[in-house]
Amino acid sequence: MMTQNHALALEGVERHFVQGEGRLTILSGASVSIDRGEMVALVAPSGSGKSTLLHIAGLLERPDAGEVRIAGEACGTLGDEERTAMRRKAIGFVYQFHHLLPEFSALENVMMPQMIRGLKRGEAATRAAELLDYMRIGKRASHRPAELSGGEQQRVAIARAVANSPHVLLADEPTGNLDPGTSAYVFEALAALVRQSGVAALIATHNHELAGRMDRAITLENGRIVPLVL
Ligand code: ADP
Ligand code: MG
Repeated sequence: MMTQNHALALEGVERHFVQGEGRLTILSGASVSIDRGEMVALVAPSGSGKSTLLHIAGLLERPDAGEVRIAGEACGTLGDEERTAMRRKAIGFVYQFHHLLPEFSALENVMMPQMIRGLKRGEAATRAAELLDYMRIGKRASHRPAELSGGEQQRVAIARAVANSPHVLLADEPTGNLDPGTSAYVFEALAALVRQSGVAALIATHNHELAGRMDRAITLENGRIVPLVL
């Protein structure tokens, strides 16, 4: 039997939160599949469940029902340790604020996830330097996050997210904290990396212009994922 393995697939994902006496339904049958090298914009109002969806796709939260598949592998039945291993190996995350470790250089921040996965220091450093060059911040490799601009910090965060060559890259408003020019520049670097690496990218953004430059856009409507025409 032929099975098509998308890099990322969400199938009928449900997520509810208890709120006082009631129940708040955020995701209610949310389904989407993303292919290798595909860049999908998630555009929806604040409070609609974008971060919740990304956290579930990134195995940071469990859905109340439904399934998450990474490269065809169903993650619902994985135990906590297996989920952590899968997350480290197969998923990269970029947040609105860079979340880099302040005591470490840009290079060391990009080395860190590789060393956690067991790479030797030298191998991790070589790959980190290549990625920083690719993101055009090779010259800043020895700088700590506080010595970098917002756009540079986000480019380091993107390099870190793909350091282990994940199947899936999830970004939660990665340019939301940047001015329009910097935002466009960071987006270009991110897009080039997605094309070059073949990672499947799901990117939450409020920026319709950037969303329009991705392969397609989706939104959340009544807890479901529907196509968005920009
Ligand atoms: P977005 O990222 O689109 O702004 P979120 O996914 O952060 O939306 O949140 C969607 C809704 O779910 C919001 O109303 C939020 O208050 C609620 N929510 C998110 N996380 C929790 C939680 N852990 N407990 C209760 N409510 C939550
Ligand atoms: Mg959010």
